[in-house]
Amino acid sequence: MSEKIRVAVIGAGPAGIYASDILLKAERDFEVSIDLFERLPAPYGLVRYGVAPDHPRIKGVINALRETLDRGGIRLFDNVDFGTDITLDDLRAHYHAVIFATGAIEDAPLAIPGIDLPGSFGAARFVNWYDGHPDFPTDWALNADQVAVVGNGNVALDVARILAKHVPDLLPTEIPANVQAGLEASAVTDVHVFGRRGPADVKFTPLELRELGEVPDVDIVLDERDFAYTEADEATFAGNNQKKVIRRIFDGWLKREPGTASRRIHLHFWSRPVEVLGDGHVEALRVERTALDADGHVVGTGEVTEVPIGQLYRAVGYYSSPLAQVPFDELHGVIPNAGGRVLDGDEPVVGEYATGWIKRGPVGLIGSTKSDALETVTNLIADVDAGRTWQPQQPAEESIPELLRARGVEYVELDGWHNLDAAERALGEAVGRERIKIVSRRGQLDASGSSQGE
Ligand SMILES: Cc1cc2nc3c(=O)[nH]c(=O)nc-3n(C[C@H](O)[C@H](O)[C@H](O)COP(=O)(O)OP(=O)(O)OC[C@H]3O[C@@H](n4cnc5c(N)ncnc54)[C@H](O)[C@@H]3O)c2cc1C
Repeated sequence: MSEKIRVAVIGAGPAGIYASDILLKAERDFEVSIDLFERLPAPYGLVRYGVAPDHPRIKGVINALRETLDRGGIRLFDNVDFGTDITLDDLRAHYHAVIFATGAIEDAPLAIPGIDLPGSFGAARFVNWYDGHPDFPTDWALNADQVAVVGNGNVALDVARILAKHVPDLLPTEIPANVQAGLEASAVTDVHVFGRRGPADVKFTPLELRELGEVPDVDIVLDERDFAYTEADEATFAGNNQKKVIRRIFDGWLKREPGTASRRIHLHFWSRPVEVLGDGHVEALRVERTALDADGHVVGTGEVTEVPIGQLYRAVGYYSSPLAQVPFDELHGVIPNAGGRVLDGDEPVVGEYATGWIKRGPVGLIGSTKSDALETVTNLIADVDAGRTWQPQQPAEESIPELLRARGVEYVELDGWHNLDAAERALGEAVGRERIKIVSRRGQLDASGSSQGE
């Protein structure tokens, strides 16, 4: 086939960048031209706006993703929202296929009474604040000394750690000025993390758990009652190296003398939040002690306690947003697909693909978006070979910047991202830090010297 195949990729998180890169490098019998669209002025998705700022090694994935973009062959259009600035009909007119890689940004719900009281937040909102996401409020009042974090995964640990950490220990990171100010004003002394299951069933990774015990001037508080391991727990530990390490970490903490730190993280296991209490604002969390039934399901024991808290953060998962004119599975929060081919009912939709968290759901580390992308791209290539593509009327590459300009879309190309990146580094350098993020969309666009719409 001699025609150049034009592919649009929506979302410049790791999934979108890996998919573009894999498609570019793949063995194929056709030429390809890839346009990567991102709704934010900066690329990298949750690596920039999810991974905690005090995890510089993981944030460093950005350097590898950046190298991929810098190698050429992928045109980047940041600050372009699929659904408003560019639509599915536009894509059909200009491309042979589209890969949706729009990830997840919302919090999954937690259906307990009182969860909507003021002072109760989804973890994603807090993460968006401390990671400087341009679309969220820049103020965050950390005005309670006792706070709850609901969840037993790594995001819960990130949130608990950032809530408990003292500002000087966060200053070497890229946290923006408004976040520094918010954390400096924090009243938090005690962070209570609640998990429905026991210590053998946590979803934390050992590295993140160990790190919690190394935060300066923060003690870990455990309840020995939670650590009466059953035979099933012993089998879990014996059969899984990660769990063995997790057990060793807990064992080490249980042997520690009670600490005198000014802040504490309390890990409460076998604890199911059943109601958020408060008169116009969060005042307490009602928690039921749990146990496992014969089938390994969590059941309530009827033993209920009330823990006084002034704020609550639920870290019970992320949830993807539906995209205009694209099938969406509300139950699982994904685009229904078979191996990355978008499905309408049982039928693949010609020209439409999905990858990353929007394909698979909001679980898994950055690395797993790579294998995801490989599967999706392999199927896309097979479809192109079989002639199953859109038939664009305007496949010329120039037609896209022309269209965006005509619509007044202030898009940012790769050079623009380089400018923004340099501006953030310069802000950091001025005070001896590697980077300070620019938060507002306007500030980011100005720093990037974006292409103004006509
Ligand atoms: C709080 C948190 C901490 C994490 N920490 C780690 C960690 O330490 N290590 C690790 O390996 N993994 C971590 N992860 C997981 C990792 O971030 C994900 O595996 C990965 O980012 C998923 O990639 P994605 O590209 O599918 O989605 P995303 O990273 O969400 O990227 C999707 C992109 O699509 C864009 N987009 C969305 N809608 C549109 C639209 N309509 N038009 C145009 N663009 C759009 C978004 O702006 C975004 O840039 C963490 C996740 C979270 C939530």
